[in-house]
Amino acid sequence: MHIIDRIYIDGAFVEPHGDQWAPLFNPATEEQIGTVRLADAHDADRAVAAAKRAFPAFSNTPKEERIDMLHRLHAAVATRASDLIDAMREEYGAPSNFIDFSAPRAGNVFLEMAKTLESYDFRRRIGSADVQMRPSGVTVAITPWNSNYGFICGKLSAAIAAGATMVIKPSEMSAVQTRVITECLHAASLPEGVFNIVTGDGAVVGSALTAHRDVSKITFTGSTATGRRIVRTAAETMKRVTMELGGKSPSIILEDADLDVAVPQVLAAGFLNSGQACIAGTRILAPESRFEDIEARLREAVKDFKAGEPNDKSVRIGPMVSQKQWDRVQSYIRLGREEGATLLAGGEGRPEGLSRGWFVQPTIFTGVNNDMRIAREEIFGPVLSLIPYRDEEDAITIANDTDYGLQAQVFSSDITRARRVADRIEAGRVILNGAQHEPLAPFGGLKQSGFGREFGVFGLEAFLEPRAVLG
Ligand code: NAD
Repeated sequence: MHIIDRIYIDGAFVEPHGDQWAPLFNPATEEQIGTVRLADAHDADRAVAAAKRAFPAFSNTPKEERIDMLHRLHAAVATRASDLIDAMREEYGAPSNFIDFSAPRAGNVFLEMAKTLESYDFRRRIGSADVQMRPSGVTVAITPWNSNYGFICGKLSAAIAAGATMVIKPSEMSAVQTRVITECLHAASLPEGVFNIVTGDGAVVGSALTAHRDVSKITFTGSTATGRRIVRTAAETMKRVTMELGGKSPSIILEDADLDVAVPQVLAAGFLNSGQACIAGTRILAPESRFEDIEARLREAVKDFKAGEPNDKSVRIGPMVSQKQWDRVQSYIRLGREEGATLLAGGEGRPEGLSRGWFVQPTIFTGVNNDMRIAREEIFGPVLSLIPYRDEEDAITIANDTDYGLQAQVFSSDITRARRVADRIEAGRVILNGAQHEPLAPFGGLKQSGFGREFGVFGLEAFLEPRAVLG
């Protein structure tokens, strides 16, 4: 049993003032694997005070020192890769293919940010003004459970590069992963108070941090509903905010797409991280002229997406994070049938052969109309909607007919055509023919997927404020 009874303030693991405990589970077995003692509003105050004390000195460190810190952070995280993997598998149930990507990535973001910082000029001349890019001050990062340490590292890397100090409030459901990543970050020996980590309830610690007068910026990754609440609170003190929220991303298969390439990619994007991914391509847009062929290929290809025990390397879909999330996903599968969509694969209940664990069958609905709730609402599980379209214009209309705008995919044999379609898609990121990840490119959403960008130079500048000095 994991007993997690420390938070991290001012460079030390300390006892929280909060005295509430929450259970932690292994979602693949439904067994309780530990408990976490939750921080409270008093702890949030202590963490902000530590970050505030650290800010004056840290904000004036030379760039070279911060580059060195980023390298130390990378090394400290890379050393514990196998512990991070074990924690993510046990507490979250992530499948191997997701872990293989996210564990090294968590450390690499520090190196990528170091590279960005090396070539970044904090001063520029505009007319007669000397413009200085100054760190935001005390910042707050609030993260979700679906890639806990990845988000912690991404947000912290940008704060360190900028010279800002940070209080991190990770998801209360990810305490085991948080403990390992905190130990890693501690091992990098940063000055006390530069980062502080307080695990607690969103309504308690999250609210206290977002209302705090000494906090000048919030970077949040989570649901649109929570994001909305945070923006309202933050407005009272005019905090800067970066919002990385939900999605309902379209994967557009154009008529001339190579289906041997597109179909497996479309499913990989839809079932990414067991469907618990903001960028998951959950709406598959297919041309009417090739609809039956695409249906048949998807029905066949979905068999490669085995759901089950995350220890099994051949598994591509792990459990949902909680009973609540499992119930929610099941309710959407029921809803899809009630709305008149047809099951092409999967359905309600656990996958065959699994009698316990919060596992969901990889599910594809066909004949879906974009007005149905299963096509409009973020389900956050392995449930995809196959939607027919008439022509390219219709595909673009359907793709953009959503409250979200985080990511989209376009598949075509003609790259010029794919780019032309991409130009008209309302999303922060468009991926053509399954192109590779670019870690320095900006990431973030349009519409209700949020605002602000992370990673690379855009991510760095989200933690900076220009100050113009004239004369
Ligand atoms: P959530 O919104 O329930 O919780 C996210 C975090 O916010 C948690 O740490 C939670 O404790 C905290 N929180 C809750 N209420 C709060 C409040 N009133 N004030 C301050 N903090 C509060 O999200 P979740 O269920 O943990 O994560 C899944 C959601 O995250 C999905 O909607 C998904 O799309 C989104 N997400 C977005 C991105 C992105 O980059 N755009 C990435 C991953 C996940």
